[in-house]
This record gives sequence, structure tokens and C-alpha cells, in this order.
Amino acid sequence: MLLGMHVSISGKIYESVDRARERGCRTMQIFSRNPRAWKAKDLSPMEVEELKKRRCQVGINPLVVHVPYLINLVTPDEELYLRSLEAYISDVKRAETLGAEYFVTHMGNHKGKGEEWGLIRLARALETIIAAARPGLMILLENTAGSGSSLGSRMEHFKKVIEATEGSECLGFCLDTCHAFAAGYDVSTERGLARTLQEVEELIGRERVKLVHINDSKGELNSRVDRHENIGQGKIGLEGMRVIVNHSLLKNLPFILETPMKNGDDDLRNMATLRSLRE
Ligand SMILES: [Zn+2]
Ligand SMILES: [Zn+2]
Repeated sequence: MLLGMHVSISGKIYESVDRARERGCRTMQIFSRNPRAWKAKDLSPMEVEELKKRRCQVGINPLVVHVPYLINLVTPDEELYLRSLEAYISDVKRAETLGAEYFVTHMGNHKGKGEEWGLIRLARALETIIAAARPGLMILLENTAGSGSSLGSRMEHFKKVIEATEGSECLGFCLDTCHAFAAGYDVSTERGLARTLQEVEELIGRERVKLVHINDSKGELNSRVDRHENIGQGKIGLEGMRVIVNHSLLKNLPFILETPMKNGDDDLRNMATLRSLRE
């Protein structure tokens, strides 16, 4: 099973690989900088080389970088929009410099302007980014729980954005199981998961599905609450997780945990639980 987790980059960025190794990861996700700030210190060539070297030794593949939190590519605030675009372009290049395969992106919040407006604005932003950065990695749009005015809670949103960018080859899809459940897709049952993934196939396309964020959900089905829970302890539950990790569309994809880690060994237990569910 291609399993890993989101690991911290505190200290030196390449120390994230040591954390992944200690936890037995075969893939990992990081922020490439402080996700709550706009600016970041440039990476030194030495840091980049060291990360690549360690990653190669441990055998981490793919490497996933998650977009910082402040960026909102669909904000109606023009100043914030331009700032977001600029930061995004620099962050996607940074991820590429690190040798990442995927850059996971939230679709943003339209702040009351409406979904249609937001989806078109996002498509235009992505076109600008792709033209400016010419990324040698894939941008993975992640589904959301649908709280507030966030885009990405319906699979139709992805279809719209992909169509509006003329099916750009740079765009893929990351399925977050907690977010899907909270948005009303019942991925906790065999039937519900099958129906959800059928929608994904029809609206987004099988070939664009590249990554699973494997999180249990504290919130109920359709609660719109984005709160991750340890595997088996949330509303998706152990049987739901078993169905997810064994589904034919998902089982060969990288799975990344983004669970809360309240206790020191939560992450190890989550990894072990998921492995034990594989048939
Ligand atoms: Zn996620
Ligand atoms: Zn989340």
C-alpha cells in the first residue's frame, strides 16, 4: 500500500524526510514554508539537494506539497486576488524546485459572489498560473467539506473548472475522504462510495484522480464540518475505511493521512490500522 502522511518541516526542510522515514512512509506531504505567512525565505541549493538525496534514500514517491492557507484564488478582493496569484506562482515553482510531483490546492472561497462566478474566476487564475509558471508538476484540486463559501464540495465544480481551462493536462484531482463525507458523499458504505466514485469518473475522469487524503471525519454525513479524525474513530469508521482502501479505483493511488495527532503514536496507529484493512 502506497501510504504516508503529512509531515512537519520544522527545523530544516529536509528533516521532514527523516520524520517520514521514522513513521514508515512511502509517500509524504509537506508545506514548503510557513503556511500562515505570505512571504518565505528562499530555499538554498544545499537544502534542496539534501531533501532530494534523503528522499531518494528513503524511497518517498510521490512527494506532495500542500498550498499555503492564505492564498484564495477566487477572492472578490482584487488586491488579495493579485497577492494570491503572485504567491501561488512562487509556491508552485518552489514545489517544483523541491522535486514534488503534486501541488495540492484548495479551490478557494467566493465570499458571496456565487459558485458560477467563483469557478470561472478560478479557471482564469489557473490559466494565468499555468502560463506564468509552466509547472512541471501536477496541480491537484482537492474537494472540500463545503463550509461557508468554499468551492469544491460538489464534483460538478471540478468538471466546470477543467472544462473552462480546456482540459489542461496540468490539472488533477485529490479526493479527501473526510471532506467528501462532510459534503454529503457517503463514502462510508460500499454503495455510497461506488456512487461517489462513479460521479468522479463521469465528471472528472479516472485519469485525473491522483491522490487520496485518507482522513476519518468528526462531523456527520453532510455536516459541512471540516474536522479530521483518527482512522476508525470517526463517522466513516473502520468498515468505511476498509471499503475505501480496497476500492479498485483508489487502491493503487498514494494515500496520505492528515489526521490530528493528539497523542504521540496516533499517526503510527493510523498507518498500522490502514495497512491491516487491506485485503
Ligand atoms: Zn485534505
Ligand atoms: Zn480538511
